[in-house]
Amino acid sequence: MSALDIVGDDLKTELPSGETVRFAHLDYAASAPCAQAAAQAVAELLPRYGSVHRGTGVRSQTSTVAYEVARDVVAEFVGARPGDEVIFTRNTTDALNLLARALPEGTTTIVFEGEHHANLLPWPNPLRLPAPASPEEALNAVEGALARVTGPAVLTVTGASNVTGEVWPIRELSDLAHAHGVRVIVDAAQLAPHLPVSLDQLGADYLAFSGHKLYAPFGAGVLAGRADWLDAAGPYLHGGGASATVGDHPGELTWATGPARHEGGTPNLLGAVSVAAVCAALLTADRDALHRHEQRLLARLRAGLPEGVREVSLFGPDHPRVGIVSLALPGHDPAQVAHRLGRDHGIGVRAGQFCAHPLVRRLVDTDRTDACGSPGTGLLRASWGLGSTEEDVDRFTRALSGVVHS
Ligand code: PLP
Repeated sequence: MSALDIVGDDLKTELPSGETVRFAHLDYAASAPCAQAAAQAVAELLPRYGSVHRGTGVRSQTSTVAYEVARDVVAEFVGARPGDEVIFTRNTTDALNLLARALPEGTTTIVFEGEHHANLLPWPNPLRLPAPASPEEALNAVEGALARVTGPAVLTVTGASNVTGEVWPIRELSDLAHAHGVRVIVDAAQLAPHLPVSLDQLGADYLAFSGHKLYAPFGAGVLAGRADWLDAAGPYLHGGGASATVGDHPGELTWATGPARHEGGTPNLLGAVSVAAVCAALLTADRDALHRHEQRLLARLRAGLPEGVREVSLFGPDHPRVGIVSLALPGHDPAQVAHRLGRDHGIGVRAGQFCAHPLVRRLVDTDRTDACGSPGTGLLRASWGLGSTEEDVDRFTRALSGVVHS
């Protein structure tokens, strides 16, 4: 088995007909299955772990080293620059909430309505922009917002949409924002599993992503980026680990600096180590080949879509995207269709609004012009990655044809 093989790739499921089939998992965007690298890292540490940063025994020492090595590996994965730091969080939502609390007082956050709720809701002073119809429109909208904002501002934007899979023009947006002295936060939850994410190359100031979408188990995420705001902010969680010294009276204390400041409590060692193991495997993988594989599956899926079913997009079908498509199903309830695909065909997809209500409303509203769906019922999403096969995609398109034309 190689480091990026999927554990449990041969999971079987029984259909109502009595037939047993391999489960076709096409819901990677929600949670990706576990890569061998993560499973192995956890298995190796299970017999040896102890408390991180807190003990002198061999278990604790081993764990402290493993945790800090994991941080270094993730720093390499995100192309951390001098002055950047990596904080382990629970997931992307946690990372972005942490950062929202660390913004300098009075900062306006420029944010598009097309964001996942995790990147739409945490910001204290949001300036919301309508989801753009093209990358140029996104740049123009940000330029307009930058001209309007008075006082400190930050731009937060997704790297790749969890609804349409479209890759956002992060480098261009970063250059534009930086020309106005404005920092850029990238929600890389859907970008990191599919394409290289380098703070340096993206020109971003902060990146957030989740381990469970990056082929590691649940419970660990990452916030990486400029340390100065994070060091200047109050700790995210008050408690042990985040505190450096505590006196006898309330208020007599100093907080830790560096990542520890925002990692209060006993850290999730197995989570950090498993995320780092996947990052290490991806760092040495041929990512172009992985991307090409995902694009082949995209082309195959599109070619097999039944008549009347349409892929939705903001930027148009030719815009680069990762392995995610959302489909409008005229005359069908996506939740019912997803249910039937799971029950009758052993295929796992997702239906609904994918924690991006304003964006899905906008896409479904657009669909009204050609009578696709109705607001509220949402869309059907298929998403894939490492371990996904042509057979998975063919089974999906065949089964979808059967369901929508039955
Ligand atoms: N951002 C995007 C683009 C996502 O797709 C998701 C999850 O679907 C999140 C943020 C939130 O991730 P998590 O639930 O792991 O915090």
